[in-house]
Amino acid sequence: MIQSINPYTGEKIYEFQELSDEEIINHIEFVNQAFLDWKRTSFAYRKELMEKAATILKEKAHEYGRVIAEEMGKPIKQAIAEVEKCAWVCTYYAQNAEGFLENEYIKTDAFKSYVSYEPLGAILAVMPWNYPFWQVFRFAAPALMVGNTALLKHASNVMKCAELIEEVFTLAGFPKDVFKSLTIKSDKVEQIIKNPLVKAVTLTGSKPAGSKVASVAASEIKKSVLELGGNNAFIVLKDADIERAVKVAVNARYQNTGQSCIAAKRLLLQEEIASEFLTQYVNAVKSTKSGNPLDEDTYIGVMAREDLAEELEEQVQKSVEMGAKILCGGKRDKAYFEPTVLANVKKDMPVFKEETFGPVIAVVTFKTIEDAIELSNNSEFGLGVSVFTEDITKIRGYIKEFDEGAVFINDMVKSDPRLPFGGIKISGFGRELSHHGIKEFVNIKTVYIH
Ligand code: NAP
Repeated sequence: MIQSINPYTGEKIYEFQELSDEEIINHIEFVNQAFLDWKRTSFAYRKELMEKAATILKEKAHEYGRVIAEEMGKPIKQAIAEVEKCAWVCTYYAQNAEGFLENEYIKTDAFKSYVSYEPLGAILAVMPWNYPFWQVFRFAAPALMVGNTALLKHASNVMKCAELIEEVFTLAGFPKDVFKSLTIKSDKVEQIIKNPLVKAVTLTGSKPAGSKVASVAASEIKKSVLELGGNNAFIVLKDADIERAVKVAVNARYQNTGQSCIAAKRLLLQEEIASEFLTQYVNAVKSTKSGNPLDEDTYIGVMAREDLAEELEEQVQKSVEMGAKILCGGKRDKAYFEPTVLANVKKDMPVFKEETFGPVIAVVTFKTIEDAIELSNNSEFGLGVSVFTEDITKIRGYIKEFDEGAVFINDMVKSDPRLPFGGIKISGFGRELSHHGIKEFVNIKTVYIH
């Protein structure tokens, strides 16, 4: 049995029967069968269905948002916003997929030569619980518009969300088995990747899971895309608009109760403004409202599982033993972790070296922009960085120095369907979103007519 436990109340709210091996094989066959018809459908038809999916997401945003809040503790307002963002990505690919996948004509010695972008087949998506709708839709919308079909292995604690995502596609009129959620634990993923009918895999999650999934895929000569963790720096230079930087830095770290791969986990402050910034920042963090995820005015909910809060507590405790100073927060109550600011952080402390997947920020000061870049790059991860400064000309000269998948100036790192999303180093490989994302799972076919 797979269970969903409401992390705020501790109650079991849903229970799911796991699929047997035989049922898994059957589902893969159905999804492959669906592909054989789906790949021949027109863009106009797929577009109509994907736009319908967007409408359903908008209409049911409150209903779905509530399930997200109950299953993984996200504050309801943020949960509704997540569902609405899924509608955006569906509309975006409904409207742009055909243009992105047009034949690309290239002049050669041939009478005609071009590139044709074609679907691959059934693609497996292994997804995490932190944005249980968004992570799935940002994969599924482009994949289905290409003409691929999709198998979802969602995180074990958000299987109701998985069921509802499948419902969206069903209600929108997608043919049966074009999108299929599999009620399974992670031990079944390997055999699914090895099934010859599954053509590729994408995983959003941790390094151990990514490493395992990509190894199995490689052993079968199948492509994988990995969206893994991050340890983003949020750099504030002395000429920054401090008031705005404080506001954005609160959201960049604490939205979704800190459980975001692209969250600002390390706050790097130039010495001249560090004290002024921190006074405002700590006040702002203290004034965030923690509470029941189902209350409209809650900003910090609970973490998705109690064991995740325990892990975070350990990282904080170890860092404090090594000399970090708690400016606010620091305490845990079951799955709730107080929004925490840690100063006097050094490079060898867990809160600097490791990803903290919860509401904790590690503060370090620096002297020069070169020092800030060195600190920012001092990480195994390479997902993104934010820099706040009023001197845009100067900072543009430094953008290539950051070892990151994204550099955001005067804003937090965020995903947008129009921009590619992904990392380097152990943050993964491949890209989602934009025209880059839709071309990850296609056959780039060269056509040469003499
Ligand atoms: P996780 O433990 O890696 O789980 C992610 C998914 O992988 C779940 O569906 C999980 O299934 C499955 N899984 C776990 N171990 C596996 C294995 N050995 N083989 C196959 N599948 C496996 O990650 P998480 O704790 O849910 O999420 C937190 C991590 O995800 C953080 O590191 C975060 O930064 C990262 N993340 C990255 C992005 C991004 O876009 N770059 C976005 C969000 C989160 P079960 O639930 O059944 O274990």
